[in-house]
Amino acid sequence: MSSSISDRLATIRPSLPASVRLIAVSKQVPTELMREAYTAGIRDFGENRIQEAASKQAELQDLPDITWHFIGNLQSNKAKKALELFDWIHSVDHLHLAQRLNTLALQLGVNPQICLQVKILPDPNKAGWTVPELLADLQALDQCKNLQIQGLMTIPPFGLNEGEIFNVFDQTRKLAQEIAKKHLQHLQMHQLSMGMSGDYHIAVQAGTTMVRLGTIIFGKRG
Ligand SMILES: *Cc1c(COP(=O)(O)O)cnc(C)c1O
Repeated sequence: MSSSISDRLATIRPSLPASVRLIAVSKQVPTELMREAYTAGIRDFGENRIQEAASKQAELQDLPDITWHFIGNLQSNKAKKALELFDWIHSVDHLHLAQRLNTLALQLGVNPQICLQVKILPDPNKAGWTVPELLADLQALDQCKNLQIQGLMTIPPFGLNEGEIFNVFDQTRKLAQEIAKKHLQHLQMHQLSMGMSGDYHIAVQAGTTMVRLGTIIFGKRG
């Protein structure tokens, strides 16, 4: 890609409704390019490795108004560090992790924003709750009062066609609605973290509220 980051963002933005939050996924992207994205108006960055995020945050200390989103697989032993570094965690994928984050959040005096990662279709390569598993854990999740559980996150299995991808996103939105109707005291279902470079246009059609875009902004990684 020969265009600049700001050119690419200028192409992407008109395809996003104003209500959709654009998270620039900067994993494996050097901080110089993140600064370019920042200059072009990006304030939300997504990372999937704790160590990488820690060193980038140190390098970007002069940009204080960034919201940091963790989007990767989070091991329990990194949970404390994740809470220290990130405002949002999109990839909370089982009850024990949620409960551990809840305990640590109390100790650290933080109230992180959380999405619960769900698998609408079976996918051995991905973490996350299946729908029945999530429904069974809702009461326990509602007890995690130090977490601001905001909604659901999903990644469709690899190799689906557009219609199948739409169905995954649409069913995720309907699941969030179904959960919202249960009127749990604490748990919110306003946010949907769905859509990456290859499928965000489908996620927008299905009513996503946050897209996580890497390649289409920064170019191919690695
Ligand atoms: C890498 C990654 C993205 C961004 O993927 P692109 O295809 O580069 O846009 C989004 N979400 C998650 C969870 C990722 O790991």
